[in-house]
Amino acid sequence: NLGVAWAKAWITSSADVMSEHRIELIDLDRNIGDGDHGENMDRGFQAVLAKLEAVPAEASPGDVLKMVATTLISTVGGAAGPLYGTAFLKASIAIAGATDLDGAALVRLLTAARDGIVLRGKAESGDKTMVDAWTPAVDAAGAAHAAGADDLAILQAAADAAEAGALATEPLVARKGRASYLGERAIGHRDPGAQSSALLLRAAADTAA
Ligand code: ADP
Ligand code: MG
Ligand code: MG
Repeated sequence: NLGVAWAKAWITSSADVMSEHRIELIDLDRNIGDGDHGENMDRGFQAVLAKLEAVPAEASPGDVLKMVATTLISTVGGAAGPLYGTAFLKASIAIAGATDLDGAALVRLLTAARDGIVLRGKAESGDKTMVDAWTPAVDAAGAAHAAGADDLAILQAAADAAEAGALATEPLVARKGRASYLGERAIGHRDPGAQSSALLLRAAADTAA
């Protein structure tokens, strides 16, 4: 089972990954948005990283995710800040009180995060947004859990599905966010938020291994 050490490792790794992929996310957002997604995510996760040390040793995984939520809301800005903020807030509520996350808790965490993004942004699957990474991830995690997979395999299934989902945004026309202003010109470009979501979920799996 995964506890607060994993939650901290996941978030630390996410901060590293957002720095490493900053330029890639900027380039994706430059194609179909305003080119700031990599900057926004890197700034937000660096702020999160700075606060992580102050999280007490007796904190729960949900406490970590709640800090991430409030920090991302106040530092990321744009569309992604409130969306990721709501995702982490709803995820933290879904696992509140748990010290060790079993497979069912991980599925709850991922489902609540996705539901939070949908609640906030009202995007549907196929709208070429981060939802197109999260919903396949939630579905794959649920299927893996139902098939008896352990925590690591559940998170790996989620990450694999999120990466495939991000890739699958490339041929789509966007119906939400800035990219929706481009009409058919968005075709052929990957959605930056779907890509950052896949990076976050890969970090979750890698730190569970
Ligand atoms: P902004 O567009 O304000 O510059 P970012 O560049 O940080 O914000 O984030 C853009 C990403 O936000 C998009 O790639 C998309 O994945 C996501 N996004 C935008 N609007 C929505 C929405 N309504 N629902 C879900 N995701 C959205
Ligand atoms: Mg942008
Ligand atoms: Mg912007």
